[in-house]
Amino acid sequence: MSLRFFNTLSRRSEEFVPLAAGPVRMYTCGPTVYNFAHIGNFRAYMFEDLLRRTLEYAGYEVKQVMNLTDVDDKTIRDSRACGMKLTDFTRQYKDAFFADLKTLSIEPAEVYPAATDHIPEMIALIERLFEKNLAYQSADGCVYFSIDRFPGYGKLAHIDRENQISGVRIRNDEYDKDAVADFALWKARDEADGDVWWDSPWGPGRPGWHIECSAMSMKYLGESFDIHTGGIDNMFPHHEDEIAQSEGATGHEWVRYWLHCAHLMVNGEKMSKSLGNFYTLRDLLARGWSGREIRMVLLGTHYRKKLNFTFDALEQARETLKRIDGTVVRLRQAGAAADAPELAEILRIADEDFLNGISDDLNISGSTAALFELLKAANRLLDANALSAAGAAAIVDMLAKFDRIFGCFDVEHAAERVAADESAPADVTALAEARAAARKARDFAESDRLRDAIREKGYVIEDAPGGAWRLKKA
Ligand code: AMP
Ligand code: ZN
Repeated sequence: MSLRFFNTLSRRSEEFVPLAAGPVRMYTCGPTVYNFAHIGNFRAYMFEDLLRRTLEYAGYEVKQVMNLTDVDDKTIRDSRACGMKLTDFTRQYKDAFFADLKTLSIEPAEVYPAATDHIPEMIALIERLFEKNLAYQSADGCVYFSIDRFPGYGKLAHIDRENQISGVRIRNDEYDKDAVADFALWKARDEADGDVWWDSPWGPGRPGWHIECSAMSMKYLGESFDIHTGGIDNMFPHHEDEIAQSEGATGHEWVRYWLHCAHLMVNGEKMSKSLGNFYTLRDLLARGWSGREIRMVLLGTHYRKKLNFTFDALEQARETLKRIDGTVVRLRQAGAAADAPELAEILRIADEDFLNGISDDLNISGSTAALFELLKAANRLLDANALSAAGAAAIVDMLAKFDRIFGCFDVEHAAERVAADESAPADVTALAEARAAARKARDFAESDRLRDAIREKGYVIEDAPGGAWRLKKA
């Protein structure tokens, strides 16, 4: 089975061919752990999850590395503002991030390297850049990458270097395309850094943001690997600078395929912490939406299209998931003497169309259409009493197969949810599901908070062995 991806480097859809036998090696830029991730961030992690699941669906093994940025301008600024040690400050957001990944059923990466555990690797990489005459120390004590000495600079963001002024330097980790400049590899210690610094051949200081991804990806994936991803805002300068550092040091191609997702928007603007127009996952859980409903919304739009976040979309996702639950419950009760003759063809087409969708640059809309066709056909056959127990089970199996990509149908627990839904409204059920997920992730503070929220809505939750639960009117 062949997969096609749109490669940002070539701006073309290309057939995916792994560089080597063995697992597909993929690097995904992870969170800066200075706050709870918002659902815009999770759009990026969800797209990467879809990519990962699609590779696995196609039969590949995947080795994914996602870094945790636990030292940078923002983590230092905010840890100092609340008087905490940097490691204690970032630890709480790392823990929250992993709990959130579970709530959204995002498959874990194989390695989650933290920047602060890899300072020696970053220093070694900067030393290689000095050997290649691509790095220099300036009068301010910081070490910069010289983009003039690296001819490939700009190939990802398609920057025209012709009319640019040379030798401009920028110390900040984040800057615009208009400010193309030599960027910081190592930042000399300054007042604002407090006690956050490491020794280096260039004096005490700390790494720039970009160098961490080059150093950690090459450590765990080798000097050339298959796929690198992120949100589109990471393309420049972050990924452009990563390419310069990595290919500058090794002298050969670093990453074969670059994939970027478009933004999650709110009222026409990018959802972001700086604009203040964001919802964290916890905000939505507290309003009574479940992880699987949120997952369905984040997955629903092709990753290269902007996704406008609305509560209507959540409502729709809720309806779709209810429809799947209801169909599964009906299928489990089916027991006609024989199957309709067209069943085999219905299953074959569903399987084929589903695959054609995701294998074409992760076109989830095509796969969702195949899902809806199958649900429609299943209900039609059920209405006509034309499904045997075995025939109906084959449809449930197909839904479970699709769920290897969607990751939110959870057909095993459909009956439990339908029963809960009959006794409590959907928002209360969603709170109960979120609480079950929090308990599973051993996030007991969150699970207690959700229990209280359920009580406020007039229900009590009763736990049973094995993580099962039941809602009763208070
Ligand atoms: P940050 O923690 O800001 O470094 O962002 C982590 C990831 O989330 C990066 O891959 C960003 O590109 C991505 N991201 C941030 N905001 C959004 C958004 N509104 N929509 C989609 N992805 C985003
Ligand atoms: Zn990165």
